[in-house]
Amino acid sequence: MLWALCRHCGHSARLNPRSLAYRFGAVDMEFIVRRLKCIRCGHRHGAICPDYRRWPTMR
Ligand SMILES: [Zn+2]
Repeated sequence: MLWALCRHCGHSARLNPRSLAYRFGAVDMEFIVRRLKCIRCGHRHGAICPDYRRWPTMR
């Protein structure tokens, strides 16, 4: 499992790598991050991290 985090409002959502691979054909992190759009605030400042790691620090 992956977590998508909005750097703008802090909204987070869980992503299923398998469904992403189904939708996009390949799991390319850079590509997916660019396609992410926050469902809460509509911004595209997303970050992705695997759920076994802590959130990346806000910089
Ligand atoms: Zn947001």
